[in-house]
Amino acid sequence: MSEHDSEYMGAVLLQKGYLSTEEESQADIILVNTCCVREKVEHKIFTKLGRLTKLKRQNKKLIIGVTGCYAQLAKEEIKRRMPQVDFVLGAQEIRRLPKVMGSLRSPQKRQDKMPDESRQVEGFPCGFRRRSSIQAMVTIMEGCNNFCAYCIVPFARGRERSRASEEILREIKEAAAEAYKEVLLLGQNVNSYCDPSNNSISFADLLIKVHQIEGIERIRYVTSHPKDFSFRLVETIRDYPKICRHVHLPVQSGSTRILKLMNRKYSRDEYMEKIEWLKREIPEIGISTDIIVGFPEEIEDDFKQTMSLLEEVEFDGIYSFKYSPRPLTKAYQYPDTVSEEVKGSRLMELQALQKRIQLAKNQSLVGRVVEILVDSVSKKDPHALCGRTSSNRIVNFKGSPDLMGKFLRVKIIRSGPNSLFGERV
Ligand code: SAH
Ligand code: SF4
Repeated sequence: MSEHDSEYMGAVLLQKGYLSTEEESQADIILVNTCCVREKVEHKIFTKLGRLTKLKRQNKKLIIGVTGCYAQLAKEEIKRRMPQVDFVLGAQEIRRLPKVMGSLRSPQKRQDKMPDESRQVEGFPCGFRRRSSIQAMVTIMEGCNNFCAYCIVPFARGRERSRASEEILREIKEAAAEAYKEVLLLGQNVNSYCDPSNNSISFADLLIKVHQIEGIERIRYVTSHPKDFSFRLVETIRDYPKICRHVHLPVQSGSTRILKLMNRKYSRDEYMEKIEWLKREIPEIGISTDIIVGFPEEIEDDFKQTMSLLEEVEFDGIYSFKYSPRPLTKAYQYPDTVSEEVKGSRLMELQALQKRIQLAKNQSLVGRVVEILVDSVSKKDPHALCGRTSSNRIVNFKGSPDLMGKFLRVKIIRSGPNSLFGERV
């Protein structure tokens, strides 16, 4: 979501006449788009701002803006600790960026990729400088009403609001006309999508409408909340081939007791039932998840249950985090009972188990032929390209950049815990 906000802000800057540079020392303006999900990012923000304000001493004209989730919640603190910052604009205010920019001096105007403010509907930004030419991110909803006990997102992003389906479909048709092959629908809890202009259109209905758009070959979405993940959605994924065979379904913990304390509103058994639906109806499905270790009151037995859930489900990928107390959240009032050391060792144990699971799963794919959409050049080897299977497995292979955006069949010849290596067939 924050990355997509950056795409909007990039378009605003282009419209204002700025060009992009990789060199901070050459920049006339730097926007630091911030997150606040975990405490560590806060330290990073201030370290970064400290470095940037030094640049300002060398280049007096440099404009520094701080935007995003942390900016939404800590406006005064940023201004107090970093008086050299020119403006602070929260995640819920980024549509005001063109106005804020208007009040600052601007270089020569460039008209391309101009965000058209007059087309903004339901308060969602329009006009993006997209980071990929293959996958277009499209917001379908903003904010969250779930108030998981550890999570600051509802405070930073506000209450849940869905975007009108007509507006979403128009944006996706535009992306298709610009040759985008894949869309990534964004929302904190996409399964509770409900069209504000026609309440009968649910997330599954929206997916079916997106499926009808010519040119769009793959549909992805994040994030699904398990409590709202319905059997109808499983059937929809099963029956509509452009909907990718991948679901990111954050479980957070394998212990029902901890899930309750987290206010996740599902039990381990209810989560496992949804995993069973997915595996039964769509055998080729790839499933990934998020895990928090060391939530207040998590004892060894709770952690063991998270480990056993990992073994039972055999996820294709996980994002795992040490619990980080966040102000405003319910859990902030709970004593942070698990020591940093135990959090660290649990995280390592969890990641080691997951690595073993992924290695074994990826090993079993060697020799198989899979279809990928080529979407990037390999970070490690400039002569290698990366593509993804519908189930979100990354496959590296040797090839020339003209293959970017193409669907290819590749045979898996080697595997590692996080990726696969293949050759074209
Ligand atoms: N809306 C998404 C998650 C957004 S935050 C969802 O419900 O799945 C992304 C992930 O960050 C969460 O799934 C959670 O695993 C992690 N996270 C959020 N708050 C955290 C905290 N206080 N400490 C550690 N991890 C946290
Ligand atoms: Fe945070 Fe929970 Fe909302 Fe996800 S569903 S954004 S974890 S409060």
